Amino acid sequence: MPGFELFGAEERKEVNDVLETGILMRYGFDGPRQGVWKAKELEQAITEVFGCQYAQLTSSGTSALTTAMAALGIGAGDEIIMPTFTFVASFEAVLSVGAIPVLVDVDETLTVSPDAVRAAITSKTKCIMPVHMCGSMADLDALKEICAEHQLILLEDACQSIGGMYKGKALGTIGDAGTFSFDFVKTITCAEGGVVMTNNKEVYIKSDGYTDHGHDHLGVDRGADLHPFIGYNYRISELHAAVGLAQIRKLGSFLGLQKKNNKALRAYLEQIPEISFRAIPEGGDDSCSFISWFLPTEALTKAVVAEMKEQGILAGNFYWFVNNWHYLSKWDHLKNAQTLHAISPEQKAALLQLKDASFPASDAVMSRCISTAISLVWTDEQIKDKGEKMVATIRKVLQTQMQPA
Ligand SMILES: *Cc1c(COP(=O)(O)O)cnc(C)c1O
Repeated sequence: MPGFELFGAEERKEVNDVLETGILMRYGFDGPRQGVWKAKELEQAITEVFGCQYAQLTSSGTSALTTAMAALGIGAGDEIIMPTFTFVASFEAVLSVGAIPVLVDVDETLTVSPDAVRAAITSKTKCIMPVHMCGSMADLDALKEICAEHQLILLEDACQSIGGMYKGKALGTIGDAGTFSFDFVKTITCAEGGVVMTNNKEVYIKSDGYTDHGHDHLGVDRGADLHPFIGYNYRISELHAAVGLAQIRKLGSFLGLQKKNNKALRAYLEQIPEISFRAIPEGGDDSCSFISWFLPTEALTKAVVAEMKEQGILAGNFYWFVNNWHYLSKWDHLKNAQTLHAISPEQKAALLQLKDASFPASDAVMSRCISTAISLVWTDEQIKDKGEKMVATIRKVLQTQMQPA
């Protein structure tokens, strides 16, 4: 799954180029930087590799989402429809621009159910934000249709799906804007970083200014820049971008290894007829960073998780249903509106409402789902060992639990 596993000489070389000049900042200092522009180069590479017109790097995936929302004009009082299953960063960004997260059910794609999205639309809805969790995607054609019908913005949180494709296009390049995260555990890493991708020039220009205090980047030097709007500092540094530049050049090999290892391990799980797998929308191509699989019931899933723990093979397997970061069931700080500063009454009311909300359709999916992270550095021997142990453990649980009383 993560590019950090194959950090090496290429990354050190790119970082060293920056250290040689000492210009660690991405803007300005044109003379002393001696032609070294790692952030610019990485942005160019992102447009080429993923096939979008514009890319604006940011300091994180979270700030990329915030930036995209601001650039798309999403703000106070606007409702953003998003899934119950995602990383906490998704709703952090929504709240940061003053908007209201409206959570809806996920289905067996592990992403928003288009029917649930449709049912959640109100006069305040401004945006649909699918989150392409664990390498695979939402039904983007269905969501695009809903957006067109209701004149809504489509913002893809593709932070976890670098390298996934939908009908020939890279995830993150299909909506009005899309984001990747390059944090330490993502498919390619900058240590910390993110990107806003778009084919809309205005969204790009706004993202560029927003991430750098509103500077218009049109002055002869930074001091001469004007400020058409208020921005923040969500810049990436040259050191971080340098790591990303080395990583993006290796993305093809990362994805090749990921697919190969995913397929090999999945073949073991496929031996068990009780196991089913995550649904991939038609025309979708999973990045293969995880294998997400389902057992028939919550009780069996919990028993398998417990037995895997007992056998010492749980590491790298995620039971999101009870995980503190990724599923609504554990987002008490959100449901209790625990913020450090005052938020708008509308935002607060919407969050407190979540305490009593129930999502049985999401629970029915997530309580049966385990995601197995795929390593790039497994040997064939390790995959065999892992696969055999998983199969034996799962079979043991199925045999004891499914015996007629
Ligand atoms: C990682 C992640 C983010 C945020 O990324 P950071 O770079 O860690 O801020 C946003 N959304 C999802 C779904 C993520 O997995």
